[in-house]
Amino acid sequence: MQKVELPPLPYAYDALEPVISKETMTLHHDKHHAAYVNATNAALEKLDKSRKGEMEIDTRAVLRDLTFNLNGHILHSMFWTNMKGTKDNNKPNGEIAKQIDKDFGSFDAFKKEFDTAAKTVEGSGWAVLGFEQNSKQLVIVQIEKHNINNIANLRTLLILDVWEHAFYVDYKNDKAAFVDKWWDIVNWDEVEKRFTL
Ligand code: MN
Repeated sequence: MQKVELPPLPYAYDALEPVISKETMTLHHDKHHAAYVNATNAALEKLDKSRKGEMEIDTRAVLRDLTFNLNGHILHSMFWTNMKGTKDNNKPNGEIAKQIDKDFGSFDAFKKEFDTAAKTVEGSGWAVLGFEQNSKQLVIVQIEKHNINNIANLRTLLILDVWEHAFYVDYKNDKAAFVDKWWDIVNWDEVEKRFTL
């Protein structure tokens, strides 16, 4: 079983002052982020024991814990590195600046949309700028909590649609029968291709 580790901050705890205090960074990194790391490892350990037949677990609950905490860990790891000390007139340069102008019209329009995303997240969450790789465009998304509904930086390998529209005509309400049968039609060559990209 592979454990996850708390990465050190890439700068001093007071490096983001006065925007973010040393006290906030210390608590946020050493307590909150560390808690997500520990809870991720606890969930991974339960799953490991369950796979080996050493422990009975509520798989659904453990997977929910894992998703929440692992995403919390990944998002915080990215968050630390996407900040640095304060600078006047801080704006993007290079290719990302061009792409922002292309997709949002201007930096100000992008900033306004990102601001709105950040300020209107329901409950606790995140505002995220991402590059949607299929349509090749920048998009802003809101992540609720850490995991609804996103696994940051996970390369998708194998997916199964379990909406009713995917099976109802064939299996009526028996989703489990659909899932059981579905394994027969998985294209593992394609999975391998995605994995070894
Ligand atoms: Mn946080």
